[in-house]
Amino acid sequence: MIRSTLAAITMLCWAGTAIAQTAEQSEESRWSIAIHGGAGTIERDKITPEKDTEIRAALDQALAIGSQILKDGGSAMDAITATIIAMENDPNFNAGKGAVFTWDKTNELDSSIMDGSDLSAGAVAGISGTKNPILLARAVKDHSPHVMLSGEGANQFSREQGLEQVPPDYYATPYRLKQIDDLLAKQVSAADVDYKYGTVGAVAMDKNGHMAAGTSTGGMTGKRWGRIGDSPVIGAGTYADDRSCAISATGSGEYFIRLGVAHEICTRLKMATKPEGIECPSQSEDVISFCTARRVLSDEEIQQIADDVIAELGTLGGDGGIIYATPWGQAGYSFNTPGMYRGRATSAGENSVAIYGDEQ
Ligand code: ASP
Repeated sequence: MIRSTLAAITMLCWAGTAIAQTAEQSEESRWSIAIHGGAGTIERDKITPEKDTEIRAALDQALAIGSQILKDGGSAMDAITATIIAMENDPNFNAGKGAVFTWDKTNELDSSIMDGSDLSAGAVAGISGTKNPILLARAVKDHSPHVMLSGEGANQFSREQGLEQVPPDYYATPYRLKQIDDLLAKQVSAADVDYKYGTVGAVAMDKNGHMAAGTSTGGMTGKRWGRIGDSPVIGAGTYADDRSCAISATGSGEYFIRLGVAHEICTRLKMATKPEGIECPSQSEDVISFCTARRVLSDEEIQQIADDVIAELGTLGGDGGIIYATPWGQAGYSFNTPGMYRGRATSAGENSVAIYGDEQ
């Protein structure tokens, strides 16, 4: 029922939008995808040329997996799921294999996923034992009446769903073990170290105009007391709505939660599509953006909105970034850290990966 109501609203919005769109913009074959593998103090002098090459290859591969699904007419939901699985399986990233360690030298993973076509969502926090946490988030969305499960209950749900289970030491890598040993030796807090980030995420729009977003992480190195960041919080680390955008975030989770970053960007985009001077009939107040023809936002307007929210995050004291996809085919990024592992591809021919802030 909710799905059909939203579909009707979306159709109305698209009918209205078409008035303002050019023939090229209304092509039905458009798709786009953006991915990230974490943001932080990622600078040339901190990464060896070999690591640089390895990370770019990993990003390329993940991007190619999602792009192919979208090119073939697959759904945004399937594209982001497959892309995130590839990054969770890659030990270079802080998600699945390669996840950071907690203060107690365990791994507690967080993940979330959202479908922009009906606003359905699933999330898990503080889990272990599941090989691919994004599949557990998706199972919560598809096969439970809930949005968020945590800890042992979520682990039990995973087993009941028949998801692939791994032993506790599966996630460990020598690199992550060294990081936690260094942190414990110094007895510093998770928030005080440089290597706290590395989350993965993907956002996409498919050829049917549907959007999806997903995020997966081990959280922050040395986290304790059951700390949960923004990655599994719908509206903070992940959000998708066919009417506005799909967002996945990475960075200092506490600040992303306080600002509701992912939802905030989508809301600002949605409100910006309402043309000035046109009144909505009163009965349509709850769908204010969709009661009349909507404006198509330009690349610059979208980037500005994303940059404004990330600037506000910086003012609060937070750092990190987001990737976005829009209903108009754009895919991009905004971040306030020296670098962010990232990539994007669109049906318009864009296909690139980048690491440092001064690229593209
Ligand atoms: N946002 C994640 C968290 O706070 C960390 C990251 O993006 O790497 O848990």
